[in-house]
Amino acid sequence: MLAEILSAGVMLLGCTVVPPPHAAAPSPAVAPSPSAAAAPAPAVGTVKPVTAAELGASWRPGCPVEPEQLRRVYVEHVGLDGQTHRGELIVHEDLVPEVIAIFEQLYRLGYPVEKIRTVDHYRGADDELSMEDNNTSAFNCRGIPGTNRWSQHAYGRAIDLNPLLNPCIYAGGEFQPQNGAAYLNRSRTDPGLLHAADPAVHAFTDRGWRWAGFWRSPIDYQHFERP
Ligand SMILES: [Zn+2]
Repeated sequence: MLAEILSAGVMLLGCTVVPPPHAAAPSPAVAPSPSAAAAPAPAVGTVKPVTAAELGASWRPGCPVEPEQLRRVYVEHVGLDGQTHRGELIVHEDLVPEVIAIFEQLYRLGYPVEKIRTVDHYRGADDELSMEDNNTSAFNCRGIPGTNRWSQHAYGRAIDLNPLLNPCIYAGGEFQPQNGAAYLNRSRTDPGLLHAADPAVHAFTDRGWRWAGFWRSPIDYQHFERP
């Protein structure tokens, strides 16, 4: 019965973007993906379930959350071009209302976000490639660099915002993304660049999210999390 329900849910989606690399995954909830359909983009605020196949390289068996605990959320944002765009985030199911409220607030503030696409768009769901592309994203089943612990991204409980403009700086001075050197200067005032006390930072922290721009090692200006 469960499989039937999930299968029916998947049939409604019609938005698969990657071939399923986990087709042999043992989870009973992994249903065959329908072929990609040229359906109109879902409305802002739409929330959809996700399958292992849709998560592509961003998920694998053994990750700390199952696809059933994640949701795809469609949000509206102002781009660096000043136009309104639509993006997709994959987040933990518990955080869906907060994430929608945060991005509504960022939109009202006029805070620009260059692009918001799920990290499976990048080869191997490589975070470095996503950051170099200044792509804002949330879920990615990966560890904290240099540790054997899961990142909050692996739970769908962290968001990296304009990561090229807001790099991550390690204690030794190394930073990510590799093309972000110009943005180590935090006195810059480029649109999208985050500073403490910015209304865009408050959109997160006023809801109980932590901003890693306040951390000391690393200082991760792009990173917000809600553990
Ligand atoms: Zn992050």
